[in-house]
Amino acid sequence: MAAKDGKKYVYSFGAKKTDGGAEDKNLLGGKGANLAEMCHLKLPVPPGFTVSTECCNDFFANKSKFPKVLTEQVEDALRLIETEMGMKFGDAQNPLLVSCRSGARTSMPGMMETVLNVGLCPATIPGLVAKTGNERFVYDSYRRLIMMYSDVVMEKAEGLELGEGKGIRVQLEGIMHELKAKKGYKSDTDMTTDDLKILCEKFKERIKKVIGKAFPDDPMAQMWGGIGAVFKSWNGKRAVSYRRIESIPDEWGTAVNVQAMVFGNMGNTSATGVAFTRNPATGENKFYGEWLINAQGEDVVAGIRTPSPLNNDTKNDQNRHLQSLEEQMPGTYKQLLSIRATLEGHYKDMQDIEFTIQDGKLFMLQCRSGKRTGTAALNMAMDMLAEGLIDKKTAVMRLKPAQLDELLHPIVDPKAEIMAKLLCKGLPAGPGGACGHIVFTAHEAVKQAKAGKTVILVREETNPEDVEGMQAAEGILTARGGMTSHAALVARGWGKCCIVGAGAMHVDAAKKTLTVGNTVLKEGALVTLNGTRGHVYNGKVPLVDSSENPRFQEFMGIVDTFRTMGVRANADTAEDARKARAFGAEGIGLFRTEHMFYGKGSDEPLFLLRKMILSKTVEERTSVLKKLFRFVKSDIKATLAAMDGLPVTIRLLDPPLHEFVPQSAAKQKELATSLGITPKEVKARGEALHESNPMMGHRGVRLGVTYPEITEMQVRAVYEAAAELIKSGKNCLPEIMIPVTCDMNELKHQKALIKAVYDDVVLRKKIDAIPHLIGTMIEIPRAALLADQMAKEADFFSFGTNDLTQMTFGFSRDDIGGFMNDYIEQKIIPADPFQTIDQEGVGQLIKFAVERGRQTKKGLKVGICGEQGGDPESVRFCFKSGLNYVSCSPFRVPIARLSAAQAAIKG
Ligand code: PEP
Ligand code: MG
Repeated sequence: MAAKDGKKYVYSFGAKKTDGGAEDKNLLGGKGANLAEMCHLKLPVPPGFTVSTECCNDFFANKSKFPKVLTEQVEDALRLIETEMGMKFGDAQNPLLVSCRSGARTSMPGMMETVLNVGLCPATIPGLVAKTGNERFVYDSYRRLIMMYSDVVMEKAEGLELGEGKGIRVQLEGIMHELKAKKGYKSDTDMTTDDLKILCEKFKERIKKVIGKAFPDDPMAQMWGGIGAVFKSWNGKRAVSYRRIESIPDEWGTAVNVQAMVFGNMGNTSATGVAFTRNPATGENKFYGEWLINAQGEDVVAGIRTPSPLNNDTKNDQNRHLQSLEEQMPGTYKQLLSIRATLEGHYKDMQDIEFTIQDGKLFMLQCRSGKRTGTAALNMAMDMLAEGLIDKKTAVMRLKPAQLDELLHPIVDPKAEIMAKLLCKGLPAGPGGACGHIVFTAHEAVKQAKAGKTVILVREETNPEDVEGMQAAEGILTARGGMTSHAALVARGWGKCCIVGAGAMHVDAAKKTLTVGNTVLKEGALVTLNGTRGHVYNGKVPLVDSSENPRFQEFMGIVDTFRTMGVRANADTAEDARKARAFGAEGIGLFRTEHMFYGKGSDEPLFLLRKMILSKTVEERTSVLKKLFRFVKSDIKATLAAMDGLPVTIRLLDPPLHEFVPQSAAKQKELATSLGITPKEVKARGEALHESNPMMGHRGVRLGVTYPEITEMQVRAVYEAAAELIKSGKNCLPEIMIPVTCDMNELKHQKALIKAVYDDVVLRKKIDAIPHLIGTMIEIPRAALLADQMAKEADFFSFGTNDLTQMTFGFSRDDIGGFMNDYIEQKIIPADPFQTIDQEGVGQLIKFAVERGRQTKKGLKVGICGEQGGDPESVRFCFKSGLNYVSCSPFRVPIARLSAAQAAIKG
């Protein structure tokens, strides 16, 4: 089947011939690769073929035209399906039908398109009726094809804009509802064969009228239309949005899987379902799934009907009254159980599977590593390790660093929950707690979240079009749909708190109301979700931290056995220091002295700082500094004590001076009285401090050069605090860090001052020595370029990547809001460099400085303390660049620990 020009676009799978396997995900997409793998495992998979992602890219490169060689390859592959099935595509007597389904490298649940029942038309209908003896089923399949095809192929793939709520699918659904209402039917299954025949004709008439083209009743035309539409859905709005959120490259493209149809809607011995080999929300080792009798796959995932539970073990309040597959089809359930064992044994991971039962016979339509919550990922990794299914290394790789964030996320306070007003119950689709103001459209969720509001997105049913709103919302609540609906899957993948299928709730999106019994909540009302239990509360219920999980601690213990790079925290108070240690920080990488002038207890030191800033003479300044000394020393001492011998990097003052000048008349007056000058003079001195470009102004080391007494006061505070702790039998290891340097002479200048103070403190405190280091931040490109010289004067380097990014790009870190989004959306830069290190540019400076610094001083200790220090990609980069540690905010310490361990494993 190789093409004449050498390009092979089509890969078959089936019982007789399978071209690819699980390792071919990039080429065949996840679905195609795993279908092939299941064929190798001899599982019952309907035969088919995969048109590769490479073909998708060539299709787009060629103005949405198929490569010439594709026709022959597809036709050949179709013949193979026909042979295996003993049926023929387009045949009047024995017609084969196929599905066209999307499948990218990583799963994008519900974000792209699918067309089922392809090949059904007036020419093939009689044959299928004769073969199945089930005319109703055939016409039901036909009406589904017409609905799906007109929506996916004729409207969306052609880029028609029929307007909000006026899409062809909505219109056809309207016709169907009308018919059902007229006849008094409750369910789709109440429709008779004659009803369906009439419906199909009406559908075709409407399509012709709205779209201007006839529905194609030619099997081949349908198949090619389907393949093209699936390709085009890669660039559909929701797929593009999802890719942006998940950072999936546009170049990947999607594959198309064309597969023999098997039918779950052939009557009461047929069914379709979705299952997880373990519970994806909690990780519990129980087979978990949902199924619908007499239905096609789309009915389960689209959340149209509340599905039945797979087994008795996993029934919940919402579906307890429904029959499980275990009860209704025990033989098939047993077979499915054995497939569960085969798949877990083979993939050594939880699998998310789709299956169809056609007239009592089971078929596997998909398997993939299932999306899971952070809690589930942790529990599964630890369980599988205990079961001997995976080793420690694999267990460490099983959690995405971002999932830890979710594990540390708040939960509804169990004590407060007892008293809370329960509004209704639904299915616990995404755990954790969320409290916010309700909104009824994705658009509104995005808008209000942007304005800084915490919102809960409330929808009647789950809909992948809502993807951006779901991302923006703190929690998601829907009235319909099951645990395997697309929205539940997506929310779970993001670690969002989510409750679906809250059936007691009525949602009116037009009126913007949520009604449960007599309670009516309007847009903006507060609700609280407990996504772990599926409980919805009216009003605000407090949330609490969930970090005390012993399994989490055990997992992190294993993580640390693989980690070689250190992890520290940026902490400015003793309280933060304790928190950082609880999260596993091995030191403080950045103690910003100036933070004592903000927030709680800052009134007096702030007043003194202001007085110091506005002092005109050395005498004035020195007298204020003496008073300020007490505060600085007690703060540093408390933090050193809290870290108990772990290194604490104390950065010398780096305040943006203008921010500290008092603005209010009252404060100016108070300061004037204290300084013995007039308020007018205070104002004038403040104005004299004004800088056009304060970020590049009189800050950091420059302050210490102009006012040596400021440096002296601070290092005296450090050394005295340390000496006193040592004398009282405690351990401590201060590291003095000089900020915003660009030349080694600055370091020389400051070190001379520091040394003099050190000698004095040692003498006065009658102590032999105070262990300490003196180093510098590298946050100006010149310092990086002259790292060999800087290293002569520094015991350590710490990259201040906030400033280093600012100075390398020339992007003001305080003003990027105005243009950063445009830059990212228009792909001028791949990501915000203030969040994740720009490895190409800033990264070069870092690598260069590490190398040059260590040329001067072998074994020079190097760390990072910019915000990027807690970003998994940046942590990996730091590991590869040979840094000794990363430092980040206390809450991100576990994320950095896991990222560092994974970097070491990946090498
Ligand atoms: C930095 O510039 O990266 C840094 C840590 O210092 P600051 O953010 O305080 O300027
Ligand atoms: Mg800085």
